[in-house]
Amino acid sequence: MFNDSEGEIMQNNMKLEFDSRSCNEGFARVAVAAFMTQLNPTLEEVADVKTAVSEAVTNAIIHGYEGRTETIVIRCRIEGEVLTVEVEDKGKGIADVKLAMEPLFTTKAECDRAGMGFSFMEAFMDSLEVHSAPGQGTLVRMTKRILRPTADGPSGYQRQKTEADRHSTWGGSEALSREKGSEKTEEMIRMKEGGRTKEGKIEEIYRKE
Ligand code: ATP
Ligand code: MG
Repeated sequence: MFNDSEGEIMQNNMKLEFDSRSCNEGFARVAVAAFMTQLNPTLEEVADVKTAVSEAVTNAIIHGYEGRTETIVIRCRIEGEVLTVEVEDKGKGIADVKLAMEPLFTTKAECDRAGMGFSFMEAFMDSLEVHSAPGQGTLVRMTKRILRPTADGPSGYQRQKTEADRHSTWGGSEALSREKGSEKTEEMIRMKEGGRTKEGKIEEIYRKE
């Protein structure tokens, strides 16, 4: 599954470009889910990735392009057992990325936004980076490791893990990046494990097909 015939770590890339229409949000989520099936993920892992993609694409549509129809790009990469997903728009951009990533921060409270999109991305994926500048757009990069036993046993598996660690970040010195371990992220993980949201509504709201 993870190694080609020469025993090299498996890499596979995919790129999607689509209009920033809300009807494409479901398409994007399902397309990424289909791409990741080669990693043999659990249903929960697929649902986690779909939720994160959904949040990032919705942000590009609503905040990035503010309802205008322009282009959103998704790039996915599988490298060993690590899935990397990038969602990019060339829209409005974010002036203060750190502030935007705070739980409950929203610039569209009047539109019933909760300010939880980035927090969900952070909780459901293993890492989240947001690169953005006003007027230039936003690039969200997320990774998730899909751990599955492989046919070629522990040594191959161990080697893939090391390779994946080496390649899991593609650079970006100005990015704001967070790994699991921060207090807020841990809180989101508790929410996730304890029924998705405080109201237990995420299945209903965020996982619709
Ligand atoms: P929710 O996701 O809960 O509906 P939200 O979209 O406001 O609410 P986040 O997804 O966490 O919350 O985003 C926080 C803020 O970051 C947004 O209110 C917006 O100001 C800014 N933002 C996020 N993504 C983008 C983007 N692609 N382009 C421009 N601004 C963005
Ligand atoms: Mg959002």
